[in-house]
Amino acid sequence: MGGSAWGATDGTSVKSADVDVVVVGGGGVAGLYLLYRLRGLGLNVTAFEAGSDVGGTWYWNRYPGCRCDVDSLEYSYSFANDLQQEWHWPERYGTQPEILKYVNHVADRFDLRRYIQFNTRVTSAVFDANSNLWTVTTDQNDMIRATFCVMATGNLSTPRKPDFPGIDDFQGEWYHTGLWPHEGVDFTGLRVGVIGTGSSGVQSIPYIAAQAKHLHVFQRTANFSLPARNEPMNAQTELTHKAEYPARRKAAYDTPFGIAGYPPPAKSALEVPADERDQIYERKWAEGGSISFLYSFNDLLTNKAANDTASEFVRQKIRSIVKDQEVAELLAPHTHPMGTKRLILDTNYYETYNRDNVTLVDVKSAPIEEITKTGLRTAQAGYELDAIVFATGFDAMTGAMLDIDIRVEGGPSLKEAWSAGPRTYLGLMIAGFPNLFTITGPGSPGVKSNMMLSIEQHTNWIVDCLQHLRSRHHRRIEVEPEAEESWVTHVREVADSTLYPLANSWYMGANIPGKPLVFMPYVGGVQMYKKKCDEVVANGYEGFLISG
Ligand code: NAP
Repeated sequence: MGGSAWGATDGTSVKSADVDVVVVGGGGVAGLYLLYRLRGLGLNVTAFEAGSDVGGTWYWNRYPGCRCDVDSLEYSYSFANDLQQEWHWPERYGTQPEILKYVNHVADRFDLRRYIQFNTRVTSAVFDANSNLWTVTTDQNDMIRATFCVMATGNLSTPRKPDFPGIDDFQGEWYHTGLWPHEGVDFTGLRVGVIGTGSSGVQSIPYIAAQAKHLHVFQRTANFSLPARNEPMNAQTELTHKAEYPARRKAAYDTPFGIAGYPPPAKSALEVPADERDQIYERKWAEGGSISFLYSFNDLLTNKAANDTASEFVRQKIRSIVKDQEVAELLAPHTHPMGTKRLILDTNYYETYNRDNVTLVDVKSAPIEEITKTGLRTAQAGYELDAIVFATGFDAMTGAMLDIDIRVEGGPSLKEAWSAGPRTYLGLMIAGFPNLFTITGPGSPGVKSNMMLSIEQHTNWIVDCLQHLRSRHHRRIEVEPEAEESWVTHVREVADSTLYPLANSWYMGANIPGKPLVFMPYVGGVQMYKKKCDEVVANGYEGFLISG
């Protein structure tokens, strides 16, 4: 294991003692890049990973139809030019198996697996303010002491276990999209029920419908979905994109969502005549992709009347695709402005409801009351099912961290500190929890951006910070409570200036009963956020106390 770059600790003999950094969630996209960077600095590192292999979200979410909703040429690491030039993405959007293959390739190419202990879930992390050490324990009875602890635990990594009564008595098989069996599931000839119509449900429903004898989709809230327009990678597109990679990656930091190539729209949706506006939406609809569509006009996420025009355009599309107009009306979302819940990209989702073996069930008007031995029962009727798929989402953004008992000895736990909702400074650190970093934590643009870019930017910031501390022989960094307070206020004010808070989304914690309703991501844009992060450093780590 070797010594610590920050010098010896108090000499207590514990397993794998004296690493510089412990990484929680080492096998995900964030954990792997962090390991690469930390090893580049020559630091001693140990990572724990709950999965049996690398991949993170792409390891767990193996449901049929799972694919990324960001173009594959963008949703990829930028840190190694050889890697981005050599890797060939076969389709416009990466499928889960393809992305998993890529992540495995990265782990092997940069020899990162050796730092990761797989099949290991971290259960607690306790900071001792006297020695400035985190003691991290796991469900495999490991105990390790580290100067710094980085949570690379992901934002959508705690599947929401369905709490319907009767589930244990169900005689068929049930699955959660976020915990899909590695061997896959064959639904041929089965009566299947899918509960949930977020991204996971919408992506899997066409595939399950194609196999199942009959599919019942249990929909509580209709959501906006746009055509992905996936296609085989165009050779010329790939060539041009790769030639422009360095410039594009750099330019991406100057954009709201961390993806270059979408010129910012100059006009309001209300400034142009209706027919011209619809032509623009038609063009975007044909192009595919969510950012492109949101970029139709400059006020779709800030002005309700402007948003209404886009929302109605999508509703009309649904009515034109779905033959049964009663079903179309149920699928047409009216509960929130388009884009204020995660916009979904699909392939043949609405078309699937034209199949004879697919039935849409409205569980808003008649909620699911219980899972029975042979299916489920709503307030209105019973359904016989051989298999149930829960596409019911995640305890997003805070779930994974709050599952770990994180505390400072003698101080409040993270659960207590976040009892009214998560509070961070820049989504990178939390006041009261020294030497603890988060990657794409609440208060950062992470989930509202190209995650790959945000992961790289956060990791670079954290690693540069560690380098800064080491070069000055400091052992401790913590957030000034006032800096955190002012960032939390800023994050809230920016959110309140948009339409986002109008939706009961997982961004708000609204999908988890009892979770505080706080808009968690920073929606001021990647460009504003990066500028702030850079300024903080330029001003001598403004808002942080460095000591030790
Ligand atoms: P989600 O967006 O939270 O959707 C969960 C669905 O389950 C919602 O339709 C929800 O209805 C429904 N639901 C939950 N509890 C229910 C209940 N008791 N009865 C009936 N319906 C219930 O979860 P997700 O689809 O897994 O997606 C989560 C996020 O993961 C996405 O927003 C996206 O960011 C990411 N993701 C991305 C991709 C991609 O890149 N293509 C794919 C999958 C996921 P309500 O809306 O009424 O709560």
